[in-house]
Amino acid sequence: METEEKKKNEPFPFGEGHLHIFMNGRNYREAVNAQSHGVDENVIREHFAEYQKRGITWLRDGGDIYGTSQRAMEIAPEYGITYRTPVFAIHRKGHYGGIVGKAYENLKEYVQLIRLLRRMGGQFVKIMISGIMDFDRGGLTEESLPDDEIREMIHIAHEEGFSVMAHTNGSRAVRTAALAGVDSIEHGNFCDEDALSALADSSAVWVPTTVTVKNLLGDGRFPESVVQRIWEGQQKNLKLACKLGVKMALGSDAGAYRVLHGQGLLDEYQVFEQVLSEDWPDWRTGILEGDRILREKF
Ligand SMILES: [Zn+2]
Repeated sequence: METEEKKKNEPFPFGEGHLHIFMNGRNYREAVNAQSHGVDENVIREHFAEYQKRGITWLRDGGDIYGTSQRAMEIAPEYGITYRTPVFAIHRKGHYGGIVGKAYENLKEYVQLIRLLRRMGGQFVKIMISGIMDFDRGGLTEESLPDDEIREMIHIAHEEGFSVMAHTNGSRAVRTAALAGVDSIEHGNFCDEDALSALADSSAVWVPTTVTVKNLLGDGRFPESVVQRIWEGQQKNLKLACKLGVKMALGSDAGAYRVLHGQGLLDEYQVFEQVLSEDWPDWRTGILEGDRILREKF
């Protein structure tokens, strides 16, 4: 009885490297409605309780535009949680990112946004440099930002004293961001070996958020064949990344459709175990190192 009790309170060794506290994993509209007339603190508390219940004590948010993650910073200590947030993410106007952040039209505005997030208590910079996966057709929804702009964004954020978390998909953007010294790559879908090699040679941590895809299997919202194809590509790249020595960490994008707070991290853990343990029995040690770097940088 006593040991059982102890086990229950043991902290989970991995942090949740990517979540959005304002989203609920079920209904995006509902989540937006709950926050858009002022922060609904109950949502934050409900989600933090899910982490607390599972002994998950370190969280890194990917941002929102409602001030929800800013409020969450104040509440987290009540749940024994270390919570890190960029407050809002930053994207180029007219490109993907409006659902989690603010837009700039030129680099001068980009710098102003970084200074704004600093004033709001943001602890790092989250940039959106690629589109998202197109689950209806496969591929990406849009072209990534030009290489020189990606490099400049990372450089400026570092100059301002922040680490950089980058929403990135596709070989070119992943390679460019890795070479420019980005601190973490989020998603990183549709990468070739060249991009993964650049990632392995860099100091960046890859947070692949695989369950945003795997949890769509059998869901019916998108064509099953497309989801299946993307999921197979992810498994192949996870194995390849391991072989090449890419630093990786667990992050589920909790709050995204079908990815629940707390449970999402356990789902992501299971994917890593399922995909990596055969070739790499000691995969946990490697991922713990990625986790450590993530906590150090962010
Ligand atoms: Zn995200």
